[in-house]
Amino acid sequence: MPCCDLTNLVGQKMPFGKVMAIEYGEGRPVAGLAKCERHGTCFRFQQLDYHALDDTPIYGFATISEDYYVALLKYYQKYGRPRWPVWVPATREQIPITQYESIVQLEDTIWAHGRIELVVAARNVTGAVVRAAAVVPNNWHQQDWVNLLSL
Ligand SMILES: [Zn+2]
Repeated sequence: MPCCDLTNLVGQKMPFGKVMAIEYGEGRPVAGLAKCERHGTCFRFQQLDYHALDDTPIYGFATISEDYYVALLKYYQKYGRPRWPVWVPATREQIPITQYESIVQLEDTIWAHGRIELVVAARNVTGAVVRAAAVVPNNWHQQDWVNLLSL
């Protein structure tokens, strides 16, 4: 279990104080990087599914090296000042094409590392944990997330 055991945080706020929302939609992050406020552990996250009944996104989390977090932050900081707890950095249109390619390359590298260790249902990546479950290795891509979380 990586850093904070989110499965023990049901009903409590997610521990992320610095969220870089690389994808953002419908008023909340869809994918990005998040840093635990308590331990400094860094994660990549992405919305895997959606529980339509009560408008709850289901996020997947994978631990990543802090070096990746810092490297991506440095890139995006060239195009805007971070605003925490949730920062939506510059969009593709605001970044020169040569720089944008480097950012995409770094993001691809980050997304190729690690595996989803946790799935969490929460209204927002900084909101309260509704449900959370650890993911069994090797079959995460076959999971029925709504069922896993008993939603
Ligand atoms: Zn933590």
